[in-house]
Amino acid sequence: MNSPVWHPFTQHGLGEEIPEIARAEGAVLHARSGERYVDAISSWWVTTHGHCHPRIMAAIQAQAAQLDQIIFAGWTHAPAEDLARGLTAILPAPLAHVFFSDSGSTSVEVALKMALGFWDNHGAPRHRVVVMEHGYHGDTVGGMSVGARGVFNRPYQPLLFDVATIPFPDAGREQATLNALEAQCREGPAAFLVEPLILGAGGMKTYTPAVLEEMRAICARYEVLFIADEVMTGWGRTGTLLACEQAGIVPDILCLSKGLTGGSVPLAVTLATAPIFEAHRSSDRARMFFHSSSYTANPLACAAANANLAIWREEPVLDRIAALGVRQQRRLDALSAHASVRNARRLGTIAAFEVADPNSDYLAAMGPALGALARSRGVLLRPLGNTVYVMPPYCIEDADLDLIYAVIGEFLQR
Ligand SMILES: *Cc1c(COP(=O)(O)O)cnc(C)c1O
Repeated sequence: MNSPVWHPFTQHGLGEEIPEIARAEGAVLHARSGERYVDAISSWWVTTHGHCHPRIMAAIQAQAAQLDQIIFAGWTHAPAEDLARGLTAILPAPLAHVFFSDSGSTSVEVALKMALGFWDNHGAPRHRVVVMEHGYHGDTVGGMSVGARGVFNRPYQPLLFDVATIPFPDAGREQATLNALEAQCREGPAAFLVEPLILGAGGMKTYTPAVLEEMRAICARYEVLFIADEVMTGWGRTGTLLACEQAGIVPDILCLSKGLTGGSVPLAVTLATAPIFEAHRSSDRARMFFHSSSYTANPLACAAANANLAIWREEPVLDRIAALGVRQQRRLDALSAHASVRNARRLGTIAAFEVADPNSDYLAAMGPALGALARSRGVLLRPLGNTVYVMPPYCIEDADLDLIYAVIGEFLQR
């Protein structure tokens, strides 16, 4: 079939099969061809309560009968006002100001601009950003600049801005990370940007709440703004609403997207504390926050996010997440008996491990090979290099979870 569609992160030259999904419910995707696929990665980490959640779909439909879109510069609407109030009610009190955008990448761009704007409006410009090794913050030029460099952004490297990178806090080497952060903070950077507790695209690498807490304390001590990118970790993925909760910390700036609408439609928010908002508030127009996109706070997307918030308020979501964690752990433990499973770990609803193999060529091909086997068995899996992870919607049925682990087990037996 010849399609004009150019897919993201897809090598069209390999002629790999591209299934066409016609509908979805819960943790299950139904292809046009009639095949059924279990969504083991929540459609790239976005789907939390399940696909086509009735409450979220109904909210979008109701909103569609009222108001589709309205300029958000100097104008407002109830879905956005309700959402901002709903967010500030469930998130830590210091994060009192809500700025809307459309994706995780833009929420990070906004966070960086807020941080630099804060220092500039204080008449003490700072431009350096400190990040963590293996980080991922999106594919825009700013997002790539603050993320890990590699084959996926090599052609663009001359355009990417310089950042200071501290080492990942591997178990036993945490102090090196903290020392590096402290050394960087002494230089007076604008901000430190980090994914709390688990680095997603970097390979589901986990570190401890104690390290996160200490990193936050170092930034506070040196008055460096602390930006938490919870685009993946937010909305219960790590077992708590925010990963930051597990370290008892509150960032100066917080990025949320993916599960913000339950994973149904695109929307993002960047929350900021009063000092950051106040640094931009003035009678001088030149100090306003110069950022917008056409669909900032789109009413349909805000309605979906409001339905997500209602689900969080009214349903036992954290209990579901805790139960899914136990169900994942049981299966991960069984799989860990396999000789090639390395470093099995779980954080909240995310289970991950590395596949060891002496043949490195095989390793390079491992991800696509497992992805293809899984597809043929009715499972959507997408390993990160030799890191295999399972991150399903919270509503997944036991039989479907069993199928995911059976497919991985079959692959490891080959
Ligand atoms: C997915 C992701 C992003 C980018 O979000 P998009 O919506 O894909 O632009 C940024 N940061 C983290 C931690 C992510 O996992």
